[in-house]
Amino acid sequence: MSSYAVIVVGAGPAGTTAARVLAEAGVPVLILERDHIPRVKPCGGALTHRVLPLLPRGAETQFQAHPTHWTFQGRSGNAVTVSRDEPYCHIVERQYFDQFLAQAAHSAGAAVHDGEALERIEDTPQGLQLVTSHGQYHADLVIAADGAHGITAKAVGFPRPQLGAAIEAEVPVDDSLWAQYESRVEIHVGRYPWGYAWVIPRAGVLNVGVGSFRPRVFPLKQRFHEFAASIVGDRPIQPLAHPLPYRLRFAPPVVRRVLFAGDAAGYMDAFSAEGIYSALRSGQLAGETALQALATGAPLSQYADRLHDEFWPSLKAAVKMGLLFYPLAGFWSDFFAENQMLLSDYLDVAMGKLPYHALRANTERALLTHPRTLLAHRH
Ligand SMILES: Cc1cc2nc3c(=O)[nH]c(=O)nc-3n(C[C@H](O)[C@H](O)[C@H](O)COP(=O)(O)OP(=O)(O)OC[C@H]3O[C@@H](n4cnc5c(N)ncnc54)[C@H](O)[C@@H]3O)c2cc1C
Repeated sequence: MSSYAVIVVGAGPAGTTAARVLAEAGVPVLILERDHIPRVKPCGGALTHRVLPLLPRGAETQFQAHPTHWTFQGRSGNAVTVSRDEPYCHIVERQYFDQFLAQAAHSAGAAVHDGEALERIEDTPQGLQLVTSHGQYHADLVIAADGAHGITAKAVGFPRPQLGAAIEAEVPVDDSLWAQYESRVEIHVGRYPWGYAWVIPRAGVLNVGVGSFRPRVFPLKQRFHEFAASIVGDRPIQPLAHPLPYRLRFAPPVVRRVLFAGDAAGYMDAFSAEGIYSALRSGQLAGETALQALATGAPLSQYADRLHDEFWPSLKAAVKMGLLFYPLAGFWSDFFAENQMLLSDYLDVAMGKLPYHALRANTERALLTHPRTLLAHRH
């Protein structure tokens, strides 16, 4: 049986970042990844500005599009575009971006076993015993970054998050359609309660998708096919579905000697469905906490405290925004289209120039100062 100080389960952004932090400090660390790298991950691949300082050197080689325009399409087809002189986000192809992150962890000294799935985990007095599709391992600590479909949470009794869902397809398009979207992300809201849809450009390909934080009340497949046809016509598409894990209440992401990070912890933004930032940052904090615990015996509960203080306020604000926005998406889409400063604020949030709660406060202020808009939409 091989032994490591830390075993990281999952080679998404959360797992590879945690492993890189540990490997750079000289800690023996193994990443177990169920799929072969590069593996496909359904994702728009949009990286907001706060992601950039968390990336290893050279990550900009992975950026395939640099949107400067954001088009917001409301229920009555009323499109509003807000723009910036510089990109407000960068788009990556997750398959190769994640491979790049795994290579960075490997170069730092982490062992990477891809095509090897964790099957069982047991907490014994001697440490954690892991059984995989290929063998058995011992670890002092485990970082569970095995995403929304992972088995670690259930195995050690970590509470399940809420599950939204999304369907997307990557569609190669001709020059004329590409020219329409090259520097523009398009978001559609308000056509149906509880759902949203998007078009994200990436090197001659459009990522077209539909998501919902209440998939039970939102006919995801039907809406996806309607929406995709409205954007890319009858071009062949291969849709992929994936959960959107989020939490209504904070759950401390440490169960004995297992730390949860990224989607495995349920740290997606329940308003925007942004999850890459949370994955990278929670992976980084999990790695740092494991390092301190191994070096000085510092308690693992520090990880839960740091996440609670740093993440939870904005995730909680996102939950509140989502609960307010999605049931009345039709009303809000008209409201935002008429109050374009709020759309501009949203880009400032993406660019790290405005905190989330300020967007919420500005929305409340706009509601109070535009009573005519409110009255108009009651009828
Ligand atoms: C359709 C869609 C669009 C999205 N678009 C965006 C976007 O544009 N921007 C953004 O910021 N976020 C987006 N997100 C969210 C983002 O994709 C996730 O939050 C992010 O991938 C989470 O990273 P992670 O490392 O926690 O998990 P993942 O990237 O899911 O990685 C988990 C890894 O664990 C592996 N694994 C699972 N089980 C096992 C096992 N038993 N043994 C070993 N390995 C295992 C999996 O194979 C996987 O590689 C989107 C999500 C969806 C579904």
